[in-house]
Amino acid sequence: MKLSKIIVAGLSFCSLNASAEISFNRPVEEITTSCAAYIETFNKNIVALVGQKSEATYDTVFETFDNYITEFADSLLHDNLMKNTHPEEAVRKASTDCTVKGFEVLSALNANRPLYDRMSQVGLKGLPEAKAFTVNHWKQRFQESGIGKDQTTRAQIQTLNDEISQIGTEFNQNITDAVGSIQVKKERLAGVPEDYLTAHPANGEGLVTITTAYSDITPVTKYAHDRELRKQLTLMSMNRAAKENPVVLLNLLAKRYELAKILGHNNFAEKNLLGTMAKTTGNVVQFTAKLNDAIKQPSVKENARLLKQMQDIDVDVKQVNSWDVPYLSNIVRKKEYQLDAKIVREYFDYDKVRDGIIGLSEDLFEISIKASDGPVWHDSVEAYEIFENDELIGRFYFDSHPREGKYTHAEQFGLKFGKRGISKPSAALVMNFPKGLMEHGQVETFLHEFGHLIHFIFAGQNDIGHSIFQEEFDFGEAPSIMLEEWVWDYDTLSHFATNSDGEVIPKKLVKRMNAARHFGRALEEARNNTYTAFAFDLYNQNPKGLDLDAFEKNVFERYSPYGYIEGTRDYASFIHLNGYGAKYYTYQWSDSIAEELLSRFKKEGLRNVKTARDYRQMILAKTGTKPAAELVKDFLGRNFTTDAFVEKLSRGE
Ligand SMILES: [Zn+2]
Repeated sequence: MKLSKIIVAGLSFCSLNASAEISFNRPVEEITTSCAAYIETFNKNIVALVGQKSEATYDTVFETFDNYITEFADSLLHDNLMKNTHPEEAVRKASTDCTVKGFEVLSALNANRPLYDRMSQVGLKGLPEAKAFTVNHWKQRFQESGIGKDQTTRAQIQTLNDEISQIGTEFNQNITDAVGSIQVKKERLAGVPEDYLTAHPANGEGLVTITTAYSDITPVTKYAHDRELRKQLTLMSMNRAAKENPVVLLNLLAKRYELAKILGHNNFAEKNLLGTMAKTTGNVVQFTAKLNDAIKQPSVKENARLLKQMQDIDVDVKQVNSWDVPYLSNIVRKKEYQLDAKIVREYFDYDKVRDGIIGLSEDLFEISIKASDGPVWHDSVEAYEIFENDELIGRFYFDSHPREGKYTHAEQFGLKFGKRGISKPSAALVMNFPKGLMEHGQVETFLHEFGHLIHFIFAGQNDIGHSIFQEEFDFGEAPSIMLEEWVWDYDTLSHFATNSDGEVIPKKLVKRMNAARHFGRALEEARNNTYTAFAFDLYNQNPKGLDLDAFEKNVFERYSPYGYIEGTRDYASFIHLNGYGAKYYTYQWSDSIAEELLSRFKKEGLRNVKTARDYRQMILAKTGTKPAAELVKDFLGRNFTTDAFVEKLSRGE
């Protein structure tokens, strides 16, 4: 799963105060004291803002607000990153406690009537487009949050928001903590690449430990011949937090439903779609129905090809199961496309991939990126600075490898929001890749996450510090999904994909990778449809009396080609159910936008710097200063539709 912006869901504000750089290695007491201090400062600042006696103009109200909120968010983003990555448990704990309080302050903002009143006094006349957009954005945001309700109701809303934030934190934390592991005899790993076995040596009793971390599981489910082992690991992964999270999730659903009802909606899904491009529950239902239709035939065909391979191994097997899919897909690619993933991965050593992604960004966006020896939070973290025409425009970090207590997915974390002439944006990629050879799919994930990062950095160059926070949620994955295309491009790969002998990846091999690329797409999309429907339907109802296990069974039977696996609770570690709420459809929606954006690059050249410049200036840099649909229209010269994506899926691509 590629995720990205849980931060944007909950907090996603910006920064601005460049004066005080926060250390990554503060003692626990300092974290707690500093947290209390920045929360107090922000609250006082907002009181001062609403007490202004001056005329309410964009500069007096919104410019000041932008400064306050970005300063506050800088600190909060920092603690949020530490909560997910710091090597010391006590620091993670203190940072977690702090971010819970910080999120509460942010959600309280939406209920701040005096602030709303002050902001409402600001007129739009004469304001440039981006500033007018900001004024309207906040007005709408306040209204959607129930600012028009009486004081008692507003207090009730506030209490619910605080509870939701706390429950959501618990849900995520349970998933982070739920790292399962098994010990297996080395012989059972037959088929798995050598470098994996070297990195996972057997103990004195000949047993190898495999955890539920992606970097541990992925090679085994893809290569191990032992079907039972693949099943065991898949089920262990699907059952992470299965004991702890069902009750937490029910509680989250109940509170969100209650909140939606108070705000006058039929359910939480309806409320959750406010401010999105998709807008209404009807549009999401229609969109997913189209996708489901589109993949029906292609997914049946793909599944038949997998079953054939399975029966070549064991003639008695009547059906493919989800734990067979990566393994069998690999065989199909090998037999039908002469593509050996083990050979492919020899060209994707982590260090070279990282440098290749950096090089691509430099070429495409006319920037230069230099390693920095600035402070980091762990020895393995890599720090960089970005320059444009010799001027520093941002910083970023790669925290790429798994370690105990660290966030287990791949995600971009904003760390500091940027504002032209005042502050430089900064962000981190938190990922869980092996230190040596990577799967091509992991390279794609790396570039995907880097797409979020570069979006964050380029959006942090305009005059509104918190602009990216104003972006529609369901646009957020488009720039990242689009960037994935470059890992299929020979010109790009030839810059960095070399094996241990220094030989460049052969053109023929990349050609075969592309020929095999779309195999499995329909099944993957079926999987996406399953999760999209799961999240959407879960919130598009009254959760009272809901049996989560039965609900999962029902959704999986309707959407997944592999149905429901008895005894699993995949929802317990479906982390998007907190941060994305009902909006898992975002991936497919964004995918349809990415398809449109890409159409111009495909026409003008993937490495065409003029096209990349337009893309950066018209879309990335303007994020949150204009409706996303208009930004896309500016870039394409026409309106965007989801048709191209749907048609592509129906062709089995
Ligand atoms: Zn993403």
